[in-house]
Amino acid sequence: MDSCIFCKIVKGEIPSSVIYEDDNVKVILDIAPSAKGHAILLVKHHVADIFELDAELAGKIFAVVPKVAAAIKAELGCDGMNILQNNGVEAGQTVFHLHIHFIPRWKDDAVNIKWTPGNYADGEAAALAAAIKSRLD
Ligand code: AMP
Ligand code: ZN
Repeated sequence: MDSCIFCKIVKGEIPSSVIYEDDNVKVILDIAPSAKGHAILLVKHHVADIFELDAELAGKIFAVVPKVAAAIKAELGCDGMNILQNNGVEAGQTVFHLHIHFIPRWKDDAVNIKWTPGNYADGEAAALAAAIKSRLD
């Protein structure tokens, strides 16, 4: 897509710090990292978000994730890592070209990915699970 910044990065029209590339993905360091080593995997084929991603391409993309994560962890020596992927403005997505974040984590670091735990009323979880399951059958 012509106006998409990540398509331009994929094509090399905008410079980036590349750590991995194959036919389907380009993995670069995030320009505004939440932590040192924060990387983003860009899908080469423009899709806005996970809801536009077909299963076959998803398999190829997600196969890359463990090896990139392991390389980042080995280099940075981090204690843990968040791998996350935002879909939609409300979920924090700011660039509407599918990407996966790799965020190295250390004890007592400054990264904040937290929510307030909720709960279900009696029977609510079972009913909701069944309803979602019915859409997958
Ligand atoms: P999200 O909020 O999930 O859409 O994440 C978009 C990410 O893209 C942010 O973490 C930005 O810092 C990052 N980003 C935006 N422009 C660039 C760029 N030119 N090079 C590398 N990372 C970028
Ligand atoms: Zn794009």
